[in-house]
Amino acid sequence: MDKIKMTTPIVEMDGDEMTRILWQMIKDNLLLPYIDLNTEYYDLGLAYREETNDQVTIDSANATKKYKVAVKCATITPNADRVKEYSLKEMWKSPNGTIRAILDGTVFRAPIVVKGIDPCVKNWKKPITIARHAYGDVYKGTEMKIPGAGKVELVYTAEDGTEIRELIHNFKGAGITQGMHNLNDSIESFARSCFNYALDIKQDLWFSTKDTISKKYDHTFKDIFQEIFEAEYEDKFKEAGITYFYTLIDDAVARVMKSEGGYIWACKNYDGDVMSDMISSAFGSLAMMTSVLVSPNGDFEYEAAHGTVQRHYYNHLKGQETSTNSVATIFAWTGALRKRGEFDGNSELMAFADKLEKATIDTIESGEMTKDLALITTIANPTVLNSEDFIKAIATRL
Ligand code: NAP
Ligand code: MG
Repeated sequence: MDKIKMTTPIVEMDGDEMTRILWQMIKDNLLLPYIDLNTEYYDLGLAYREETNDQVTIDSANATKKYKVAVKCATITPNADRVKEYSLKEMWKSPNGTIRAILDGTVFRAPIVVKGIDPCVKNWKKPITIARHAYGDVYKGTEMKIPGAGKVELVYTAEDGTEIRELIHNFKGAGITQGMHNLNDSIESFARSCFNYALDIKQDLWFSTKDTISKKYDHTFKDIFQEIFEAEYEDKFKEAGITYFYTLIDDAVARVMKSEGGYIWACKNYDGDVMSDMISSAFGSLAMMTSVLVSPNGDFEYEAAHGTVQRHYYNHLKGQETSTNSVATIFAWTGALRKRGEFDGNSELMAFADKLEKATIDTIESGEMTKDLALITTIANPTVLNSEDFIKAIATRL
């Protein structure tokens, strides 16, 4: 066959450690034989971030604004150990944080559902996608230990000097307090990203906060979502046959447990942090979670939800065989290729993405899988493959 052509590039963000190795294997075995792969390549591996003083991360995010579609490999977020290991000039920031700040995006995390890797919750038949608002609240909070009796107040000082005060508490003894904030702009971007993504994947959108208790803070989230929905999205949702559903966070949790899945659940920052870990562990494995960053302008960056799988990489460096699961990274590629195809009217590219996903799922469902899945599957006598043989088994099916 002729290789599939691509008119517009995808932004390719390479990464670190074991996932960098999988990245090359995926390209060599599953993509390059079939596609005239057109990417603008950015090396976000830590060595090159160091060499460019992290400019490469910023450049890759700006390129994503230009081309609207990116695929990213997992990257090291430096900590003190990494500063030593890589002799870094600085503890560079998390690339995901930098990219998210430039794109002003929301992260959607969804499990890849496969027969034989069953969720702990029996009635979950379809993926539940969590959208986490990634700005503010307790993550940008200010806290204080109150040593003893005294008054704590919230004070807003306007630019003209006028003040608004609210009593938090008249302390009789020691205690604690906390101040936090959010921004209407950020909540609006979050809302638009969620509505856009729901339309994109044609699934219902749920949103939940604790507005009955938090009558101003959480209620503002609820109001902003409702206003934007009515003004910009209600008709589009009707046309797409999907719904927007707001409910209290505790009601949402109860409904999620009893649902069969197949919707997006938008959460405030803290709720999303907690619920995404619950959903991913209940669906089976972090290695089967994809993640997509969607900007309010409709730019898409696809990646695996897991990290660079450092422990496997060190085994690999010692010459030991690894059995690292490449499914989420493969689905990051298929997500980006399908989106590129959709933007460019390239149906061959979209069909290829579907076929590669199907080949991947069929490989697992036929009993060929990596070790992490073999440990949790209900399929009898699975064949455990190493990192490369698993990708080659998919290539054979493809
Ligand atoms: P991790 O890479 O997600 O791996 C944690 C453990 O989960 C692994 O040791 C492995 O368990 C299992 N695992 C994760 N992905 C797997 C896969 N594809 N196949 C098989 N098993 C898998 O998290 P980490 O070790 O805490 O972090 C390593 C580095 O990744 C850190 O430098 C961190 O900064 C970075 N990170 C990057 C991103 C990102 O770029 N989006 C996200 C998270 C972390 P076993 O060892 O038991 O086999
Ligand atoms: Mg968490």
